[in-house]
Amino acid sequence: MAETQFSNKIALSSDEIWRECLVNIKRNVSQMTYNTWFLPIKPINVNNSTIKVLLPSQFFWEWIDEHYNSLIHSTIKSVIGPDANLTYVIAEETEEEQIHTPIQPPKKIESVEQIKRPEFETFINSRYTFDNFIMGEGNQLARAAAGAIGDNPGGTSFNPLFIYGGVGLGKTHLVQAIGNKIIQNFPSKRIIYLSSDIFTVEFVEAIQSNKVNEFSSFYKSMDVLILDDIQFLIGKEKTQDLFFHIFNTLHQSGKQIILTSDKPPKDLKGLNERLISRFQWGLSADIQPPDFETRIAILKRKADDFGLSLPNELYEYIASHIVSNIRELEGCLIKLLANASLSSRVIDFNLVKTTVKEIATSRQVNVTIEYITSTVCTFLDIGEDKIRDKTRKKEVVLARQIAMFLSKELTRSSLKTIGLHFGGRDHSTVIHACVSVDRGINTDNLIKDIVNKIKEKIELESN
Ligand code: ADP
Ligand code: MG
Repeated sequence: MAETQFSNKIALSSDEIWRECLVNIKRNVSQMTYNTWFLPIKPINVNNSTIKVLLPSQFFWEWIDEHYNSLIHSTIKSVIGPDANLTYVIAEETEEEQIHTPIQPPKKIESVEQIKRPEFETFINSRYTFDNFIMGEGNQLARAAAGAIGDNPGGTSFNPLFIYGGVGLGKTHLVQAIGNKIIQNFPSKRIIYLSSDIFTVEFVEAIQSNKVNEFSSFYKSMDVLILDDIQFLIGKEKTQDLFFHIFNTLHQSGKQIILTSDKPPKDLKGLNERLISRFQWGLSADIQPPDFETRIAILKRKADDFGLSLPNELYEYIASHIVSNIRELEGCLIKLLANASLSSRVIDFNLVKTTVKEIATSRQVNVTIEYITSTVCTFLDIGEDKIRDKTRKKEVVLARQIAMFLSKELTRSSLKTIGLHFGGRDHSTVIHACVSVDRGINTDNLIKDIVNKIKEKIELESN
């Protein structure tokens, strides 16, 4: 941890300073608020009178900035002195390294340059560990391989380790956990984590400043290279070429390479074949969405971390409605806590229901009526043109009604717009469809099942 000198000439680490701040904050807020909003803040370093801290998410930052700005401000002033300043880094966005400086007007945005590795920064975030990674059937293989590499980087046949799967399923968490384990086991190893789009940006900058050789030898000097979201290299030929050479150098000298992607190597269309074949040299392991039990386990663990305990039915409700994204499970708990701690509402079934619904709505802003229609038609094996024409065949009517119902539920389109998409039907037809599907869901298990499956599919693929 970086150290700094204060007027009393005692050098304090950022950990010590932040601990002092917490003592003061704790006196001024409720236990729940403290646990929810302040305990997760991690000090990173302190420079002159500026303390830099890490926050878990953008949402978190906005919340704190809005509600606790003055408390934080007065606290750091009392601990650090009148010039105290605080800067934030958002953990979820380490790829982009967004820096926020909400405390001290005028807002001073720290430049990316300043936070880049002094010698060099690993970008491994201590928040992500194996300990707080919940295992389930969907991530078993990936977790096991990750563990093996953490104990023996470069020494297993899993080189590269290629982890793939949908958004919010724990790929970044897992590869970061490997990083933390390696730092702990082998502190002298040179290790770096970065997202492929950052890699690309840095490469372009290196070209512009005539530093391609330095750039390339920097990455070739690593013992462990973790490149997240490799799909971002698609269409970037030059970056791929350079990465190809880095990969070869590292691999030949037994250095560990860890990659993630949203798809398995063979499906990375647009990525150079020679890269794809190298990605298959080691082990490819997928991460599947967690099953119901795992979702419950994750919820309970995260709630516990927040100092929160809910009745089982509430966990079950959340876990049965948020099915394919762990980030959303986490987001749901944070929102619940936010509501409960600020409006002193109790976390009851109604609040849970509203919160789950909000998450679903915010997720589905990008889902279009066309997309819903095509998913419904594929699922029920009906031609898309049929759904728009006048056919009154039973299965077509059902498909049309389900598509209308889901369009109402999952998009922000008006009844009129929805009607127009289905062969120019008027809004009363759409209402009729919604009512009848809704009734179907409540009375007919088959319909309920069909609608849920289609919804799950849309949710999964639109993420
Ligand atoms: P991805 O990189 O696949 O999009 P992340 O690794 O960013 O997903 O995970 C999203 C969030 O869910 C993170 O906050 C992460 O800590 C959490 N998470 C994912 N998988 C697990 C798990 N198995 N156990 C605990 N938390 C998890
Ligand atoms: Mg990720």
